Amino acid sequence: MALRKLEEVLVTGKRVFIRADLNVPIRDGKITDTTRIDEALPAVKWVIANGGHPIVASHLGRPKGRRAPALTLRPVAEYLADVLHVKVSLADDCVGERTLAQSRTLGPHEVLLLENLRFHAGEEANDPRFARELAALADVYVNDALMRREVENLSPLLGAPLRPFVVVLGGAKVADKIGLVRHLVDRIDALLVGGAMAYTFLRAQGVEVGDSLVAEDEIDLAQETLDAASKRALAVLLPNDHVAVQEIAPEAQSRITSPGVPAGWKGVDIGPATIRRFADKIVHAKTIFWNGPLGIFETKPFDRGTVAIATEIARSGAFSVVGGGDSAAAVAQSGHAEEISHISTGGGAALEFLEGRTLPGLAALEPES
Ligand code: AMP
Repeated sequence: MALRKLEEVLVTGKRVFIRADLNVPIRDGKITDTTRIDEALPAVKWVIANGGHPIVASHLGRPKGRRAPALTLRPVAEYLADVLHVKVSLADDCVGERTLAQSRTLGPHEVLLLENLRFHAGEEANDPRFARELAALADVYVNDALMRREVENLSPLLGAPLRPFVVVLGGAKVADKIGLVRHLVDRIDALLVGGAMAYTFLRAQGVEVGDSLVAEDEIDLAQETLDAASKRALAVLLPNDHVAVQEIAPEAQSRITSPGVPAGWKGVDIGPATIRRFADKIVHAKTIFWNGPLGIFETKPFDRGTVAIATEIARSGAFSVVGGGDSAAAVAQSGHAEEISHISTGGGAALEFLEGRTLPGLAALEPES
């Protein structure tokens, strides 16, 4: 996909709408991790330096189409003003007459930050009327560089990924992630499944899973995936040993069970034999995509499998893409984030992209020629 780059556009004297991802964690009105804002800074600075007027827009959290005072972008506006050393005005709303007026009276070296886009239901609904109101604010539309990096790094997985291509999936929901396996089924050599999702797959295979978390309504979907894989050269590896507990708590007595999980016990992490089997596939991979924790990663020590796999992926030397907040955190925790080719920040949109779905925001950016 060929996208036009910001540097190729004349912005002098123009109002430039920058759709950024400033969805940062905020606790008690304070931003606890500014990474996403920092990533958006180069585009804003470039527009200012070239005499344009940046109008920055983002969503924050999930206000579900309603004004939620706790999800104001005000802390972001303050941070932007601090690091950019320019005047940053926060528009009270992202659309409307007043905001339109503000967009027209922006001075030089001034940034207009629009209030949370998701205070309007139209944002997630891709409502064309809402889009037109936003478009009226500016002359040029820029999608954040973060997205360019996403497209550049996810595209190889859709094209001709170097083989073997290994996909590692974890977390709880099968449906969220399995679409990409369906779409890429002929390109993937091995699918490694961990996390709670594995118990849905094991249940489909008739393996005893005890009290482990199973998505009952997704057993058929797991079965379909296993059937599709068996008709192709796609190897599906499920855990054959587990860290099991009777109660989910950090100090809970745990045991390794194999091949399933007995009644009264819950699987909370992949076991050591599974880590070795998964690692053996990862070591030989040339392309790796990973999304979702392989255990209850938030509760130590049940993060061990996830961190072990993060380390293996980082060390593999493969072209590696890691998506999802938990997996990215595990990579950071493993101390090997630098060795991962791309940490995807696109969340659900990145998964949809890999499912081969058309994303309206991207389609709109494709050159018309
Ligand atoms: P998802 O949003 O589908 O990626 O799921 C992430 C969640 O799955 C995390 O909160 C994990 O704690 C949870 N998870 C991973 N493995 C297990 C497991 N074996 N049992 C229960 N929950 C799990």
